[in-house]
Amino acid sequence: MTLSEYRMMIDDADRELLAAFRRRMEASAGIAACKQRQGLPVRDPLREQEKLDTIRALVGAELADYAAALYETLFALSRDYQTKLLAPKDEKALRCGLLGTPLGHSYSPAIHAMLGSYSYELFDTPETGLSDFLKRGEFDALNVTIPYKKAVIPFCAALSPEAEAVGSVNTILRRPDGTLFGDNTDCAGFRALVRESGVSVAGKKALVLGSGGASRTVCHVLRELNAREIVVISRTGENNYENLDRHADAELIVNATPVGMFPMNGEMLFSLTEFPDCAAVFDLVYNPARTALVLQAEHLGIPAFGGLRMLVEQACRSAELFTGRTVSEETAEQVLRTLRRKSENVILIGMPGSGKTTVAAALAEALGRQCLDADTIFADWTGMDIPSYFAVYGESGFRAQESDILLDLGRCSGCVISTGGGVVLNPMNYDTLHQNGTIIWLRRGLDRLAREGRPLSEHADLAAMYETRAPLYARFADFTVSNDGTVAETVQAILEVLE
Ligand code: NAP
Repeated sequence: MTLSEYRMMIDDADRELLAAFRRRMEASAGIAACKQRQGLPVRDPLREQEKLDTIRALVGAELADYAAALYETLFALSRDYQTKLLAPKDEKALRCGLLGTPLGHSYSPAIHAMLGSYSYELFDTPETGLSDFLKRGEFDALNVTIPYKKAVIPFCAALSPEAEAVGSVNTILRRPDGTLFGDNTDCAGFRALVRESGVSVAGKKALVLGSGGASRTVCHVLRELNAREIVVISRTGENNYENLDRHADAELIVNATPVGMFPMNGEMLFSLTEFPDCAAVFDLVYNPARTALVLQAEHLGIPAFGGLRMLVEQACRSAELFTGRTVSEETAEQVLRTLRRKSENVILIGMPGSGKTTVAAALAEALGRQCLDADTIFADWTGMDIPSYFAVYGESGFRAQESDILLDLGRCSGCVISTGGGVVLNPMNYDTLHQNGTIIWLRRGLDRLAREGRPLSEHADLAAMYETRAPLYARFADFTVSNDGTVAETVQAILEVLE
């Protein structure tokens, strides 16, 4: 061989070496994150010694010392890289945010405000602006949501093994050299949701609705948990909503579509009654807390779980990647509790004159929330007071109109809602109120119910009315609170049950 041929050989080998070096350093970054999570030191002398012994044996006696010298340098470079990655960051200076579109009702800013002191902006970016946004780079780290979890991949210089395996990126980190690193914390989120549910996936047949980014994440985790069979249902796929009967033996159903998500509350793709073996339902949607699918599962006695736990867990894992700091389980629990409390409505039901309007206003004030009074909204919507509406349209007309108004109120998040005394007469109102709320039955002694100026109850037989309605109030209510004391006492009692 000539000198130039040998040099070409060296150039080829260097190209392979550099590619292997890049892969090695990427794995090293992953190891840094694992060590941080497990509280392990960067240096592991035992592991280094074992590696050196293996390398000496593999390379042969003649090159053993050279190979050992090369690897000692590599170990030092890896340690240096890991130390740099794990160095405490100035959190306040970190510019983080959520990339997607549309982002109107995202819970992420509220969650990240509880997880760290970095800034967290909503980067609502149209598809035409995606490339420009990622290249301009006015951020240090990002979460990525619909519709960009796949689209961002070509902009990442490297992916974590999990993001690579799933083909979906929901977290992007800017590396010290300015390039982007894509990771996937949705997997950890879905794992946590399944773990918390206590549902065993192994050996079960699962239907996964939708074929987008979340669906790929779910399938990846279900495979890892040894599901027996995983079928993706896609509107345009071989398995679709027209031939669901092929899979009537499904034991797990996971909704990874936006169907049922605010503002499309109440929508669902099929009835669970078509799946007699269904043992559990997971719905990745978290607003409302209970989608129509989850509500139907509850009615059928099938354990069902919404997506809030997954949302919080993926955010915690992303925050760890943003800051290089571990988020404890206690913090994750606290965030979940706070978010649940803040996002769900508190709904007061009870007999006419039991004090719902007054208590709701005081409760809203105590909680710093908006108060919605169904009766007042009824008058605003219809332009008529309730007795006049009753006189013109009868009770059935009134109840139908009231249910329509409740459909709108039930979709809200984080409000205090005071309802009319008869809402429990229409069983459909239960799902409307329960989908996103804690329902409290406000009880007051019959002799203390306000009647004055209330044409509908002024001359009614309240005892008979109570007899009919009490079991219905009990069926709707998550909690019962007495309003026989002062308003302040009642508000305090409600705050206690909400805790
Ligand atoms: P995506 O990439 O846009 O995929 C959604 C998929 O749902 C689509 O590929 C489509 O599949 C199907 N779909 C969309 N509209 C539909 C409709 N009207 N009827 C039936 N199917 C429809 O979105 P994604 O990122 O996978 O997210 C899906 C849902 O999961 C969203 O609601 C999101 O909020 C939620 N999610 C929650 C979490 C969490 O932490 N809880 C995390 C990720 C996602 P086909 O075209 O194949 O039918």
